[in-house]
Amino acid sequence: MLLRSTLLIAAGLFSLMPSALRAEPPRLSPPLRCEPETGCFIQSYVDHDPGPGSSDFACGARTYDGHNGTDFRIRSLRAQAEVLASADGVVKGARDGMQDVSVRVIGKSALGGRECGNGVVVEHGDGWSTQYCHMAQGSVTVKDGARVRRGDVLGRVGLSGNTEFPHVHLTVRQNGKVVDPFAYGRPPAACNAGVSLWTPEAASAFAYRSRILLARGFADGPVTGEEIDTGTVEDRRPIPASAAVVAWVRLIGVEAGDAPKLVLTGPDGTVLSENKPEVQDRAKAQIHLFVGRKRPPEGWPPGTYAAALSVLRDGKTVSEERFTMDLGR
Ligand SMILES: [Zn+2]
Repeated sequence: MLLRSTLLIAAGLFSLMPSALRAEPPRLSPPLRCEPETGCFIQSYVDHDPGPGSSDFACGARTYDGHNGTDFRIRSLRAQAEVLASADGVVKGARDGMQDVSVRVIGKSALGGRECGNGVVVEHGDGWSTQYCHMAQGSVTVKDGARVRRGDVLGRVGLSGNTEFPHVHLTVRQNGKVVDPFAYGRPPAACNAGVSLWTPEAASAFAYRSRILLARGFADGPVTGEEIDTGTVEDRRPIPASAAVVAWVRLIGVEAGDAPKLVLTGPDGTVLSENKPEVQDRAKAQIHLFVGRKRPPEGWPPGTYAAALSVLRDGKTVSEERFTMDLGR
């Protein structure tokens, strides 16, 4: 039903356009290469709310006020994902040389208006363009005027410009106006209306969903969000001599009313640690949780340690994931 209504709106939209503007919008493929180890997840969509509030195309909370693009996030900076052209075109502007550092560290004023960071603009003809932001310093591989094909490498995901986590921000424009590639031509406040500009493969890979487990693992003590973003948390896997065993998760797109619960169990199935699930009073772009246990005097029993993350809503489990780690003697 949903598909049929989308198609009807699409047909209506194009028939209303004057013939000069009836040029087909470009079909877009993902702006980054997604491998299983990098993981690629949508962090934020385009904001459709004209006022001080925010609302994504599905009338959900997966955006923030004034956000003019789609953020494709990877697990950490170590994932080194490549940024790719979403459609054929000509490069109209490329910038490199900005530092990979969180805006939380240097502050917005240090950016001097260069909020996109290291980035590239590609023009696709008929007034359509795509802009790719926050690429890694020294990674931009294309120059002004270069012809690119869909899927060509433009650079690498980084942490430059106005960003706090590794992602590529993609802004799609038609004649200079921001377009939501998930909802082209969406009438104001019409939830899930409009036309998707994505290829069928991209549309199914990036179907709208909430409470995504972005990253998870085990560490030898409490972990910070920064260690998760940079990937240095991977260097802290527990060993038999570790003073603690900690299970950690980073969840994105958490909805109001969700109560995430994390449980760490030892090799014999005993619960070593768990959190008291807290009901989230509002939607959260991301949260990280960890639970752990100090090393017992007799040392860590060898075997498989498991962590189970479940998200509860009104006492019911709405999502569940489990991951494990082996610890030797
Ligand atoms: Zn963004």
